[in-house]
Amino acid sequence: MDPALDVLVVGSANVDLVVTAPRMPAPGETVVGTGFATYEGGKGANQAVAVARLSGRVALLGCVGDDPYGAGLRKALMSAGVDTTGLRTRSGVPTGVAVITVDAAGENSIVVVPGANATLTPEDIRDARDLLAGSAVVLVQLETSLEAVSETLRLARELGKVTVLNPAPAQPVPEELLGLATFLTPNRSELETLSGKAVRDVSDAELAAAVLLERGAQNVVTTLGEAGALYLGAGSRRHVQAFPVNPVDTTAAGDAFNAAFALALARGVSLADALVFANAAGALATTVAGAQPSLPALEAVEKLVGRAILSS
Ligand code: ADP
Repeated sequence: MDPALDVLVVGSANVDLVVTAPRMPAPGETVVGTGFATYEGGKGANQAVAVARLSGRVALLGCVGDDPYGAGLRKALMSAGVDTTGLRTRSGVPTGVAVITVDAAGENSIVVVPGANATLTPEDIRDARDLLAGSAVVLVQLETSLEAVSETLRLARELGKVTVLNPAPAQPVPEELLGLATFLTPNRSELETLSGKAVRDVSDAELAAAVLLERGAQNVVTTLGEAGALYLGAGSRRHVQAFPVNPVDTTAAGDAFNAAFALALARGVSLADALVFANAAGALATTVAGAQPSLPALEAVEKLVGRAILSS
């Protein structure tokens, strides 16, 4: 039987509260700002919305607080086409927020409060066994507790699922996590953190990814911005060039890449085509400002690739 969902995303949902001001306030000082806006974010929510934009069937397993931000996130996810039955509402903790001040020069200062995201437990994952069982691919990042990430990968493996671990934001992870995921998808700086090696170009990325394979990783896909992406697995290697685009804002390029890659795997596409599809989704995400507003639709991605990949 076909799984009900293409991709289950296990991860964070945040609200970004963005204030613009002529300059940063000094400690104890008040400055009069020029603007305020809120945006839905969090890598988990971004990746889930990205799968939905690509016409994938997707659910988000995570936590929001019992506050208006949490209710707003749930509503926005639902209207984007994301199944939120696995999105828990926690009382007594705030929804995850990032409070961002941007000055006239475009410099920003950010305080992130993980809030409810940090309360996702291994027990929550076990309680969601049916959601995992009903998904073709499970996609997870590092904005929830490492215990929840590791339980997700363990349970998904027990259920015979393909898993994608996007080890973002950059942080060291326990050795056993590396081997639990079918695919690890670091960007340059995450690969540096995980491998302890500098990653400037494609050949550095190959050496660093090889270190992860030696430590037990099964397959490593490194995203390399304008240098595309590099796949390294046992005995096989593939570099895909980036699509030529005019980037205006690279926010969420990695989220678009991961979502597209997971969805392509869920649809049984070859690894080579999954890499090309993800590369095109990442490229398009750089051509529009913002995180979720920049996530591309399936038609746009297949147009850039020049052929049908998912819809063939
Ligand atoms: P992150 O957003 O996590 O830093 P990257 O910068 O590596 O990740 O970008 C993710 C993917 O998005 C890349 O692998 C590539 O496919 C695409 N991408 C990013 N920047 C560009 C660019 N300047 N031109 C074309 N594609 C890009």
